[in-house]
Amino acid sequence: MQLINFNQVSKSFFNQNQQTKVLDKISFIVNDHEIVSILGPSGCGKSTILNLINHLIEPTEGEIITNCKLGYMFQKDCLMPWRTIYKNVTIGLEITKDKSKDSIEFAKDLMRKYQIQEFSSYYPNELSGGLRQRVSLIRTLVLKPNLLLLDEPFSKLDFQTRLIVQDDVYSILKKEKKSALMVTHDIEEAIALSDRVIILTNRPTKIKKEIKFDFGEETPTERRKSPKFSSYFNEIYETINQSK
Ligand code: ADP
Ligand code: MG
Repeated sequence: MQLINFNQVSKSFFNQNQQTKVLDKISFIVNDHEIVSILGPSGCGKSTILNLINHLIEPTEGEIITNCKLGYMFQKDCLMPWRTIYKNVTIGLEITKDKSKDSIEFAKDLMRKYQIQEFSSYYPNELSGGLRQRVSLIRTLVLKPNLLLLDEPFSKLDFQTRLIVQDDVYSILKKEKKSALMVTHDIEEAIALSDRVIILTNRPTKIKKEIKFDFGEETPTERRKSPKFSSYFNEIYETINQSK
């Protein structure tokens, strides 16, 4: 089943008297149970793609069909420092005025399952960066999205923490049977986490190539150790450096 159909989408921004064409006829699909990465340089329009999918902004041309409930996870964990972990995890329920026992129980179950229950009464600044990202993911899952939009979710973490959090997020997404569209500028992150990568050019941004990864049940860390990893890395690196 197609969850997202991004069809011939162009997007220009108008500032003062200037027009910047950011996206130039981009098309791709995300299917159910897939983790897809969009890989491109800074400023090429990756966050713009997610904002279009979320209908926060409108395309200049083309159409975007979304066929699922979306969740969003950002670069920064965006936890509210004045709320406890429990109050952060359940904020979505407060906003949607869902006080049902089932929803609250579901939130608590997720907290138990992914071991953040014991930090319920802590405040975000008392937790490590990695743990905060886990809380941020659980907060998103409380609203039962089918597909998560991930905007460079690991880029603010130091290298070692990043490896741990990537394994963590990947295993939660797989266990909860979620689909995801992740944007990143990090080649290794794309290979470690996704089933397929869509490689973008510089602005005005087009799709350069799409590569499907042939991994089995490996975790991101296991993928990094596989010989296939470096051959995919080289293939992507060469694609990025080709002038056409
Ligand atoms: P990326 O996430 O790939 O780094 P963005 O999608 O944030 O890139 O931005 C792509 C380009 O579009 C940048 O040049 C940025 O300045 C411009 N841009 C993004 N959002 C807006 C906006 N709301 N108004 C004007 N220009 C914007
Ligand atoms: Mg961005």
